[in-house]
Amino acid sequence: MSSIFDQIIEGKLPCDKVYEDDTILAFHDIAPQAPIHILIVPKKKIKGLQDLTAQDMHLLEDAVRIAQKLAKQFDILEGYRFLTNNGALAGQTVFHLHFHLIGGKQLGHELA
Ligand code: 5GP
Repeated sequence: MSSIFDQIIEGKLPCDKVYEDDTILAFHDIAPQAPIHILIVPKKKIKGLQDLTAQDMHLLEDAVRIAQKLAKQFDILEGYRFLTNNGALAGQTVFHLHFHLIGGKQLGHELA
């Protein structure tokens, strides 16, 4: 099934892009939870972290590398959060693997 992120990756829906290469697209979240809230999205159709196979595990490394680069670019090195929600009970609403890069304010301690 095609998700909203598939449509963004295919260029059928617009996004506020901050990074793109062959495997990853990153863009600003439409409903930011902090001054900086970027979504780092592997282009390959993978539902979530649990569906990441050994063959695609490099995407995790790619996403971390891009998060490091964007954290520097957007000046949030003092503190940022890098996370993924896996499954509806964890708060996943778009079922296409993606990572949130969140920063630019004092973040709370609550993770659950
Ligand atoms: P999840 O809840 O699955 O972890 O994260 C999905 C994120 O995608 C949410 O933070 C939500 O605001 C964001 N989002 C949903 N639809 C769109 C969209 O069409 N464009 C952008 N830029 N972000 C979206």
